[in-house]
This record gives sequence, structure tokens and C-alpha cells, in this order.
Amino acid sequence: DSQLSDTETVTEGQPRWPRQNSLSMREWDIPYDELKMGEMIGTGRFGTVFRGQWHGDVAVKVLDVNYLKDEKTLEQFKNEVSTFRKTRHENLVLFMGACMKPPKLAIVTSLSKGNTLYTHIHLRKDKFNMNKTTNVAQQISQGMGYLHAKGIIHKDLKSKNIFVENGKVVITDFGLFSVTKLCFGNRKSDSLGIPPGWLCYLSPEIMRSLHAHQPHDEELPFSKASDVYAFGTVWYELLCGEWPFKGQPPEAVIWQVGKGMKQPLANLQASRDVKDILMLCWSYDPSARPDFIRLLNSLDKLPKKRLARSPSHPIHLSRSAES
Ligand code: ATP
Repeated sequence: DSQLSDTETVTEGQPRWPRQNSLSMREWDIPYDELKMGEMIGTGRFGTVFRGQWHGDVAVKVLDVNYLKDEKTLEQFKNEVSTFRKTRHENLVLFMGACMKPPKLAIVTSLSKGNTLYTHIHLRKDKFNMNKTTNVAQQISQGMGYLHAKGIIHKDLKSKNIFVENGKVVITDFGLFSVTKLCFGNRKSDSLGIPPGWLCYLSPEIMRSLHAHQPHDEELPFSKASDVYAFGTVWYELLCGEWPFKGQPPEAVIWQVGKGMKQPLANLQASRDVKDILMLCWSYDPSARPDFIRLLNSLDKLPKKRLARSPSHPIHLSRSAES
């Protein structure tokens, strides 16, 4: 069984899962009855996350079965889940198991007790000093570098999917995007049905294929490079406290990004090196974007400011005072 698992590969956007391997899923099956469900944490695009108990605190993402009724979609869900179980890294959420028996489909992970970067940046308006900003970016790059080394593309890297708990970064929701996309495609709507705050993470090549009305079972061109583009946007959020193209309508963002235009950085008071990272990640040409190993290298080289207090103690400096 484990030998079979070794032959399984996930290439860019094309998970392969030999039929026999369905057997090996059993060890990850959690009978739904064993889960003690607690309060709801929130609802996302294709499911609802609950607090739960299963040998301790867990997060249970219950999927909306309406979207997963047919055999093919269920198989795809299992494929997506199979990408989870290959991950062991301290900056990635811990996959604990899944309930695979319809109509109960759920993914069980460790419960993140901290806030998401989204909450820190956009709701609480927390200001991170440059050292903390760099440190968070380094941890994201570590986790993402690991995912990429495993051949897994996140496809949905964004500040909502990054938790910070006691200074430690934990990335969630990797590799589940195809299931999400199916729901997205199922939507009966003339518009693109784009969730808010999603667009600015999409690379030009993805933007351009969104634009062309592709049938919904056709893959969007996600790649390691499109993950790097999304990382660029997170880096921008960390630096500026807002999303790029803030306040602009979706059509304007799609058009600009598709044409290779970028959010201007004139108002960003940061060093050249900091801006260079941003511009490289946002390169129009995917092959011009750095990989996470190179990004880590660049982040490591950013000058460290000496702090008057311990770095674990939050200090709120105004951005201009720091840069
Ligand atoms: P989207 O569907 O667009 O990705 P989302 O990220 O808000 O939006 P979900 O991933 O379904 O949607 O998450 C719903 C809520 O549950 C969010 O508030 C999220 O922060 C929270 N959540 C998700 N995973 C965990 C976890 N492992 N621990 C704690 N909370 C979590």
C-alpha cells in the first residue's frame, strides 16, 4: 500500500490517483460519529468550519454535499484530500483525517487558535514592524517552499488562509481549490461570481483565462509561479495594510492585471530591496517570478532593525518611522 502511495504523483493541477489507492484512504478515514462537533467558526465558499473534538481540539471543515454528489466529484475530493496527507511542516496546518462517506464529507485539521493575517491586517488594522513583516514572510515562504518541493500547488494562498499564533505562521486550505472551483462553476450567475478580496491574488495568466469564458471543468492555469504571485500580494498586504487595487471594480482589476499593469508603489515607504521582491513576484511572465528558495534568500538579506524591546513583544511603530 505504501509503495503504491509512493508512485502517486501530483503534477501541476493534475492529480493522479491510481484506483487501487482508494484503499489507502482508509487509514485517514474518521467516522463522522467519532467527531464531537462544537460551535461554527465560519462559512467559506464551499463548506463550513466548526470547532470540534477528536482526541483534542480540531477544526472540522464540513463540505457542502450538494456540490459533491456525483462519483467523479467525490473521487476528485478524495484526490484533493490525498494531497493533504503528504504534508508535514511546522508552517502548514496539520491534516488529521477526513470523513469520506457521503452525505457526510469533512476534513479534520488541527485547530488554529490565533488570528488570520486577514484579521490582523484588514479587521484589526494591526501594524507589523519591518522585522515582524519579514519574519512572517519568511515563514510563509518556508511552508510554501515545502509544498512546492512536494509538488503541491496551493492555488488559494491569501491572508485569510494564513494564521499567526504566538508569532508562528500556519498556512491552511492548500490543494482544495479544484473542489472550490467546481462549486464556483456550478453557480448560476452571469457574472464571474468572484468572491471579494480574491481577485488581487490571481496572476495575469489566470486573470486572462478567467476572462475567456472557459467551460467550468477546464483547469485554470495554476502553477508554482501563480502561488508566488499570490505571495507577492500577501507581502504587499503586510507592507501596506491593504489590498492592491483597493476600491477598484473587478472588471478594472481584471483588465489591468491581464494587461500586465501593477499596483503603483509610489506611496509605499520601503527600501528598494523590499519593493524589488514585490515586483519580481508580480512579474507578468510566470518564468520571471522567483521560486520560494530564492525568495527566502532575498528575505534573509533584508537588513534587520535592532529592536529596543524583545521581538516577541509587539511594538507599534508607524511605517514611515521604520523605513
Ligand atoms: P474561502 O472559502 O473564500 O477560502 P474562508 O477562508 O473564510 O473563505 P474557510 O476556509 O471555509 O473560508 O474558513 C471559514 C472560517 O473558518 C474562517 O473564519 C477561517 O479563518 C476558519 N478556519 C479555517 N480553518 C481553520 C482552522 N484550522 N482553525 C481555526 N479556524 C479555521
